[in-house]
Amino acid sequence: METKSSHQPKFPDRFPELPLRLANLPEFPNFFMIRDDLLPLGFGTKWRKAIGIQENAKEKAVKEILLWGAVHGNYLASFSTIFRSLGFFVTTIGYSKDPHLKTYNEHLVKYHSHSFHCYANRKLALEAFAQMSSRFAGLVLPEFGVHPNQILGLKQLWSNLETKIQSLLKDSEYKTSPNESQAILLLEIGSGVSFLSAYDYFRNSQVLVQGVMIGEKKDSWLSRTKQLQMKLGLQPVPIPEENVMEVEGKLPSSSLTIGETERNQKENPYQEAQKGMGFGKGQNHYKDWIFEFYQKNEIILEPMYSAKTLFHFHKKQNERMVYVSKIPIFYLHQGGQIQHLDLVFPKTRVLP
Ligand SMILES: *Cc1c(COP(=O)(O)O)cnc(C)c1O
Repeated sequence: METKSSHQPKFPDRFPELPLRLANLPEFPNFFMIRDDLLPLGFGTKWRKAIGIQENAKEKAVKEILLWGAVHGNYLASFSTIFRSLGFFVTTIGYSKDPHLKTYNEHLVKYHSHSFHCYANRKLALEAFAQMSSRFAGLVLPEFGVHPNQILGLKQLWSNLETKIQSLLKDSEYKTSPNESQAILLLEIGSGVSFLSAYDYFRNSQVLVQGVMIGEKKDSWLSRTKQLQMKLGLQPVPIPEENVMEVEGKLPSSSLTIGETERNQKENPYQEAQKGMGFGKGQNHYKDWIFEFYQKNEIILEPMYSAKTLFHFHKKQNERMVYVSKIPIFYLHQGGQIQHLDLVFPKTRVLP
């Protein structure tokens, strides 16, 4: 079925530039956002993780890649798209619990995989992956693409950030003593690769790396860090408990539609959430907050990751419990927002 049109969009066949961009938000004093969400297609920091893996494949002269993971997630969407565009033959094993759910990420995965197999749950997908990887000639990536070469691109980011922090602090009013932290790097922990790589890089510096747990309990993740560090080729140093935090709030569900009437009825969503409603009941509030945040800052938050962390900060600030931090906080927005454009752009416009 060859239906090549002359209008086929050109997709970059080389790696894009991965600049470090900082923004400060008026509402959050001493707070700088690292805008990885601005990297192509909103893939965010996944670009930085992919670049070293691509180099590894080049060295081995491998042109085939096997991926697996959740079909609606940013990992599979970004890696299948990136490796396809770099000329790899992409084989993907995905899983989705809801056969009817259609998402942007799933679309990307499906159409950028030369060979695509989808299963009803993680367990079945893992079995299929184990079987296929045993006879796969190319590069086989485990879940979340955990690979020592992921660190290469991340390290470059930390190094650029370090330079930026130093120049920012040099001519600022921030006063710190030699043995105290001068800045905080704040980021979410999914698999934890980004966090562990940052922790490794800044371990003996004056930048304090602070992680926010997403999805997994802190204790459970902390019990696995050594193993993960070894897989990544990092020194298996212990992660201090105080560097990892759990913020309250249940994860928003995957059904992310909001009725306009509901939106109009609630006046001040985050105030209500502050009274201790939490996200479980207040999922729509959360979506409202993403919308408001976008209107104020022109930054789209991702409901699972960035919105969770920033909502927490906002809340603390309203409660006057802010990190009245004398040192600047650098927060990494890791992208993944494109799948959720409907949170900020209305799908349909109802005529009066
Ligand atoms: C992958 C991802 C993360 C988590 O990164 P890890 O290195 O797996 O912890 C966070 N936010 C977004 C948007 C992501 O796509």
